Amino acid sequence: MTAETIDGKAFAATLRGKVGDQARAFEAAAGRQAGLAVVLVGEDPASQIYVRSKGKATLEAGMASFEHKLAADTPEAELLALVDALNADPAVDGILVQLPLPPHMNEAKVIATIDPDKDVDGFTVVNAGRLATGLHGFVPCTPLGCLMLLKDRLGDLAGLDAVVIGRSNIVGKPMAQLLLKESCTVTVAHSRTRDLADVVRRADIVVAAVGRPAMVTGDWLKPGATVIDVGINRVPGAEPGKTKLVGDVDFPSASTVAGAITPVPGGVGPMTIACLLRNTLVAAQRRAGVRGTEI
Ligand code: NDP
Repeated sequence: MTAETIDGKAFAATLRGKVGDQARAFEAAAGRQAGLAVVLVGEDPASQIYVRSKGKATLEAGMASFEHKLAADTPEAELLALVDALNADPAVDGILVQLPLPPHMNEAKVIATIDPDKDVDGFTVVNAGRLATGLHGFVPCTPLGCLMLLKDRLGDLAGLDAVVIGRSNIVGKPMAQLLLKESCTVTVAHSRTRDLADVVRRADIVVAAVGRPAMVTGDWLKPGATVIDVGINRVPGAEPGKTKLVGDVDFPSASTVAGAITPVPGGVGPMTIACLLRNTLVAAQRRAGVRGTEI
C-alpha cells in the first residue's frame, strides 16, 4: 500500500483564502480590520522567523498586524504591562506571546495575563478549561489544524481508535480533547507508555507530537491508518554541513502501511499559521458581535 499524502500546504492556502474573504466582510461590517498583536522577547532566531511569517500572513489575510519586540533582558513587569495594554486596546483582537520566553520570565504568569477572549493561541487555563468542558473558546492552533486535516480526509470520526503520542499542553492534550469531542476512543501515550508500538498498532488515527526524529515506523501502524505527523526535527542532511527537517514519523516506511499521512514539511506546519489567522478572525467577530460563517 502506498499512502495518500495529505497536502497540508494546499489545505492551509484554502483556509487562509476563506479567512481573507471573511476578514474583508468583517472590515466592511465593523468599520475596522481584525487585528493580531504578536510579542517577541529576545532574539531567538527560530522565534524571529515565526514572528515574521505570522506578521506577513496576517497582512496577507487582510488583517492588521501589531509587532512588539522587546529586548531579552526586559523585566517581566514590563512584558506584563504590555500584555495589559494590548488587552485594553480595542484594535487588538488576538494576542500572541511568542514562546519560549527568556529564563527570567514566568511563562505561565505571562500567559495567564492574556485576556482569554484575545487568547488566539488557546494557551490560557480558561481556554484549556473551556475545551475540556465543551464550551466555546480558543483551541491551540496546531491541534486544531490537525483536526481539520483529519475531518477533511475521514469525515465523521466517531468510534475511531485514536492514539496521540505526546501530552504537552500545546499539542498532545488539546489534540486528545478534540478527538474525544469527535467521539473517538482516545489513548494518550507519552514517554512512560509501555509497549508503545503495540498501542499505536491499534489506532485508526495516529497523531505523533513527540520531537523525536522518525520514531514511529511503518511496522508500528495498522494498515490503512491515518497518520498526522506534528514533529519538526532538524537533522543532518545529505550534504555535509547542511540540515533538513523530518517529522516524528519515518515517512518512507510509514507510507507503505498507512492509508494517508502528512509530510514534513508541508503537512501540519502550514496549518498552524492558518489556524492562528482563523482564531484571530473569530476573536474579532465575537468581540464586535459580527456574524461569520463557521470555518
Ligand atoms: P514537548 O516536548 O512539550 O512534548 C513531547 C511529548 O512527547 C511529551 O509528552 C513526552 O512525554 C513525549 N515523549 C518524549 N519521548 C517519548 C518517547 N520516547 N515515547 C513516547 N512519548 C515520548 O513537545 P511539543 O508537544 O511542544 O512538540 C512536539 C513536537 O511537535 C516537536 O517536534 C515540535 O517541534 C513539534 N511542533 C510542531 C508544531 C507545528 O506547527 N507543526 C507546533 C508545535 C510543536 P512526557 O510527557 O512523558 O515527557
